[in-house]
Amino acid sequence: MVKAEELREQLIELDKKHFIHPTSSLKQQHEQGAPFIFTKGEGVYLTDITGKRVLEGMSSLWNVNIGYGRKELAEAAREQMENLAFTNSFSSMSNEPAIRLAAKLAEIAPGNLDAVFFTSGGSESNDTAYKLVRYYWKLKGRPEKKKIISRKKGYHGVNIGATSATGISPFQEMTTSHAPDFLHVEPSSSAALLECIDSEGAETIAAFIAEPIQGAGGVNMAPDGYFREVREICSKHNILFIADEVITGFGRTGKMFACEHYRVVPDVMLVAKGITSGYIPLGAVIVTDTIHRELIDLSQGVLLHGYTYSGHPTACAVGLKNLEIMERENLVENSRLMGEKLFEGLKEIEQEIEIVGEVRALGLIGAVEVVHPTEKKRFSELVAPKVSAEAAKRGLIVRTVGFEGMDTVVFAPPLVINENEIKEMVAILKASLKAVQESVLKETAS
Ligand code: PMP
Repeated sequence: MVKAEELREQLIELDKKHFIHPTSSLKQQHEQGAPFIFTKGEGVYLTDITGKRVLEGMSSLWNVNIGYGRKELAEAAREQMENLAFTNSFSSMSNEPAIRLAAKLAEIAPGNLDAVFFTSGGSESNDTAYKLVRYYWKLKGRPEKKKIISRKKGYHGVNIGATSATGISPFQEMTTSHAPDFLHVEPSSSAALLECIDSEGAETIAAFIAEPIQGAGGVNMAPDGYFREVREICSKHNILFIADEVITGFGRTGKMFACEHYRVVPDVMLVAKGITSGYIPLGAVIVTDTIHRELIDLSQGVLLHGYTYSGHPTACAVGLKNLEIMERENLVENSRLMGEKLFEGLKEIEQEIEIVGEVRALGLIGAVEVVHPTEKKRFSELVAPKVSAEAAKRGLIVRTVGFEGMDTVVFAPPLVINENEIKEMVAILKASLKAVQESVLKETAS
């Protein structure tokens, strides 16, 4: 039998040669190989091929909301695959899991968000939404309403439209050409949105898109009142408001959807990730009953937008079971309660560690800003990656954001996390920050 270490080495060689990793440093991957090859997950923990166990403080990519190792989801997929693994939904064909999941989403989504277009993930949900809102205005005889306004530091995915909407420069700069008619405004000022509308002309704008909390851009929360104001501005100017809840949906912030915190109902809501807790790819675009009816009334012929996997029966069956488990185990409430504990821990860290600037969290999504203790601004070199490396050594996975002037550690553990696991997470974070603080302050002093 090949020993675990040997097997790891073998896999790393194959990985280096054949596997182009998404959103990764190709050089580092080629030179150092994968730091972890995971083989098992249970609750909030992952185990790698050498037996090392880590607490997944990111729920992988903010998505494994109900935690790892759920046999019920495997069972739901197996049962659906045995009966009917796949059938398409083109030409009005349908299947029961897709119908039931669409109805379930309509039930749990705020307000009259009642009709669902399925995709396979967040980027597809974004590109679908941009096309749908333009189609909507075109049908209403307003084809010139086509610009999409998004926010700086916002992240909306990597398809060409989603990249164009994303307001994080390195993602934009990765490609030399973008989709036309995308505009970016300051993320925390409703006045900035208003100015943009005034200068471009509302008659040219189809929609405004925002994440209720910017995730990949550094877990940034908008100031109080911002979302109510932008909701009003959009309504007043006949601009559709799209909420990208790809990260924040399905309990992440302590409510089922983050817009509920701000008491706003968007015209279009985008979801993915937590809809299946990552057990199988799935996303959705949810529109209001009003928009749905207008689309039905005005459209003629075929809606020429659809993915092979829109309404995938197996993915939808897994989504349904995932939502059933979230409700049965009160995971939205657990997210709120554990989020409070997490925030208390972060506040202690803020008090005790000098290189910590602002800490923030809402439910189970949070961030720690790293700053120079006396200058109160970012160190000349990024420090947060050193913190995440220390945390990984100590058994905790977190991520860092190092663009747009940020030096930030971000985290979003599974919603099943308990109080002891929160304590473990906070303790590792604190120890990692402390270790890094000692080394960087020594370096900057010498
Ligand atoms: N929107 C947001 C807010 C996201 O965070 C992400 C992914 N992190 C996406 C869209 C894109 O989703 P996907 O990676 O599933 O295409």
